[in-house]
Amino acid sequence: MSSRKTSIPDAGYSLSVVVPAYNEQEVLGEFHRRLAQTLDQMSCEAEIVYVNDGSRDNTMAVLHAIRAADPRVSIVDLSRNFGKEIAVSAGLEHSAGDAVIIIDADLQDPPELIPALVAKWQHGYDNVYAKRKVRDGESWFKKITAHYFYRVMQSVSRIKIPEDTGDFRLLSRRAVLALGQLNEQHRFMKGLFAWIGYPSIAVEYDRDPRFAGETKWNYWKLWNFALEGITSFTIAPLKIATYLGVCVAGLAFMYAIYTIYKTLMYGESVKGYPSLMVVTLLLGGSNLIAVGLLGEYLGRIFNESKGRPLYFVNVFEPSELHRLHAAAGREFVPRERNPGALTPS
Ligand code: UDP
Ligand code: MG
Repeated sequence: MSSRKTSIPDAGYSLSVVVPAYNEQEVLGEFHRRLAQTLDQMSCEAEIVYVNDGSRDNTMAVLHAIRAADPRVSIVDLSRNFGKEIAVSAGLEHSAGDAVIIIDADLQDPPELIPALVAKWQHGYDNVYAKRKVRDGESWFKKITAHYFYRVMQSVSRIKIPEDTGDFRLLSRRAVLALGQLNEQHRFMKGLFAWIGYPSIAVEYDRDPRFAGETKWNYWKLWNFALEGITSFTIAPLKIATYLGVCVAGLAFMYAIYTIYKTLMYGESVKGYPSLMVVTLLLGGSNLIAVGLLGEYLGRIFNESKGRPLYFVNVFEPSELHRLHAAAGREFVPRERNPGALTPS
């Protein structure tokens, strides 16, 4: 998007890969194999932070097996399912690397793209997002709704959210620290990535269909996701409600004058029941819509006003890299979110 460049990181750097996982027992083995292969070919120090987002299947057992065989692995076991957005945030806060990759566990985001993302970061970009060229294995309805969602978002809010990008990206350490300061419960990540600013750039790739397991998305969730995006980034709908109200009230006022004039000139009659009904329904309907809109925002204010921590960690099992950084006094884990976290060695 932007082309401003900042300081170039040293040649020796460390990389964290954050992977949210919710009921991913079928894919994690293959995912880790491909990711590890990619990291092996890179010259940097690396760690992989798997966040178990309250999975109900054997994800945790699979992760333990993976960690036993690979000291680069951290496991952040959340106290329950918090949703992908918060799982990613937890992973970011438990990452130690100079640059952090966010990637889905289902192999829709190819790990092989990571070196290309890192190359852009080494040119001084803080936010290197992977932009998909094709959307395989997704219905035309999902593609069309996604397209219009971005168009609407673009036109109603000041933040430019790049189209056809997901959460698959690289963030510099300062971008991760910036995100960590955004403490809202309603985390519309694509919006937050754009909101923090910093030099960002796209790397194009082909998005694959899910390798195995099932998507956790359905249209109801997508609808709520879109609602989340709009309400957390713009108050335009509230303004629309106001203007709609002004228009309807103006029309009703003119109609009232016309009715009074007619009654005075031609006398009263019991006719007019249909128009009365129409006006009542119209006003009732637009009132309800406006109240509903207010409710959406009020509900979010309610949730935010509680100021709760984003998540709690059940167990944190650090990677070698994390331990090294912690020993050197460089640690990013927010202690208040791990009150009871066991940290086995
Ligand atoms: N995920 C998660 N918590 C959830 C739902 C999903 O951590 O409550 C993870 C999931 O394991 C996967 C990623 O988020 O790694 C994307 O999920 P999914 O593939 O279901 O979403 P889609 O690719 O269809 O948007
Ligand atoms: Mg997926």
